[in-house]
Amino acid sequence: MRYSTLVQFYQRLESTPKKLEKRDILAELYRQCSEEELPKVVLLSMGTVFPSGALELGIAGEMMKRVIARVSGTTDTQITKKYKETGDLGLTAEQFLKNRKQSTLGKRELSVEKVFENLRKLPEIGGAGSQEKKILLIAELLSSAEAAEAKYIVRTILSEMRIGVAAGIVRDAIAAAFGKDVKEVERVFDFVGDYGQIAVLAKNGRLKGEIQIGKPVRVMLADRAPDLKEAMEEFEQSLLEWKYDGFRVQVHKSGNEIKIFSRRMEDVTRQFPDIANFSKECIKAKECIVEGEALAIDKSGKPRPFQELSRRIQRKYDIERTVKEIPVQVNLFDLIYLNGESWMDKPLRERWQQLAKTVKETKNFRLADRLETKNYAEAKKFYKHALKMGQEGIIVKNLEARYQPGRRVGYWLKVKDILEPLDLVVVGAEWGEGKRARWLGSLILAAKKGGKFVEAGRMASGLTEEQMDQLTKQLKPLITGEEGKTVSLEPRIVVEVGYEEIQRSPKYESGYALRFPRLLRIRDAADKGPEDVNTVADMDKLFKMQKRRR
Ligand code: ATP
Repeated sequence: MRYSTLVQFYQRLESTPKKLEKRDILAELYRQCSEEELPKVVLLSMGTVFPSGALELGIAGEMMKRVIARVSGTTDTQITKKYKETGDLGLTAEQFLKNRKQSTLGKRELSVEKVFENLRKLPEIGGAGSQEKKILLIAELLSSAEAAEAKYIVRTILSEMRIGVAAGIVRDAIAAAFGKDVKEVERVFDFVGDYGQIAVLAKNGRLKGEIQIGKPVRVMLADRAPDLKEAMEEFEQSLLEWKYDGFRVQVHKSGNEIKIFSRRMEDVTRQFPDIANFSKECIKAKECIVEGEALAIDKSGKPRPFQELSRRIQRKYDIERTVKEIPVQVNLFDLIYLNGESWMDKPLRERWQQLAKTVKETKNFRLADRLETKNYAEAKKFYKHALKMGQEGIIVKNLEARYQPGRRVGYWLKVKDILEPLDLVVVGAEWGEGKRARWLGSLILAAKKGGKFVEAGRMASGLTEEQMDQLTKQLKPLITGEEGKTVSLEPRIVVEVGYEEIQRSPKYESGYALRFPRLLRIRDAADKGPEDVNTVADMDKLFKMQKRRR
């Protein structure tokens, strides 16, 4: 497919705010695609080239300005000036390329495949000279692009499509394009996790929501409970488990082959050869999928801070050494597949019994601490013990409930002592003063509301120098604009924020601000991305909950 064809669809999508119209436009687009083109077109229509959510291309506004300047034969300063007027680098590129002086002789027509391939290569480029290599890949596209095409290439790279297409519309459009039920498409997403692949299955009439060993399943999630008492009253039969503060892992074992997936369905097998070995040794079934929470532990088996585990997740080289330096422990709490059969529809009680039979426990690969009780005093003791051992709290689970992939359906309820921290995305920051002038400090945080990010307060204090250093390194390439000391940022980095209280505030678009916010952790991209941050609706709920606590 020509990229210009896709661009015509982008333009139509951009010109209507109506969701149903957008769905129909997308359905028309998907129907036109060959089987080969379809997965690429679907992802590009969502403004990405990778199925796992956010596009992590590592290209910042500054680099983009340089490429546009180079290709259009103008200067960075002029691009910056125009960008200040338009607030959109895509539009800026379009305007400059319209007037480009360079010869367009020998220009090749851009295909969807070419754009897709070049963008896919970007995150893999590392090491010396990587900036220049990335610039060349983008410049190659922009030099062949018509002005309108350039606009959307730039927007795709910066993850700012502005065409109002969210995952829900894509799901509905796939259903409409190939005559499927929306519910069916959604169910398959729990197993496939990639609308590009799902569209192909729908086109070929092979849409089936089936668990497959080696392919990640979207994980089941927990709701919050106001307190232990209410959580316990919720279910006829409940199991209490420690809520470990670590990293969710889904382990797939097929003979001697092990695959490990993160909460966001990313393959993290390479980073955790130790977990793969434990799984081979301790899982007694031939084929099995189990879930647990991985923690970094010290020699005595006590949990170490989450940052240590984060180092393990990020590590791409010298893995053997980090395995020794930062040992992990997996605390297992579910089993969803066994020897050719899905166990997701079985009640948790049966899944737990089977998990206990299937796993040979060791210090590093063990069953999660749990207690079945209806007795409040006993439950409270168990909860306090979990807190004393440095964990976040407990999860109260309905023993009769099935495993519901990808959803918060109220079968698991988390109980924590402190007010629920919030995951927010950093959309702006301020350069510090004096000794701190080289760091970005005061962070502007945003929550999600209807597919966009809205400001929900600032976090100025409590950052250690090490954290400021790390954050500045991560945030600097994401700067899209500067005004005085304040910078605006592409929404990529997610932070977990603790606070004393949520307050109403007309100052921020979310309608809320946080009292005494403090940084709990910088989230790892494999764990949580911008699409996973808390919503304003979550803040409404927490706001009401906190009033009830008083
Ligand atoms: P939080 O920010 O509170 O960790 P979350 O948004 O990451 O929450 P939730 O659905 O609220 O996710 O809580 C479930 C998470 O808690 C799981 O993804 C898992 O990583 C972790 N967890 C720790 N212990 C358990 C357990 N025993 N059972 C299920 N999940 C557990």
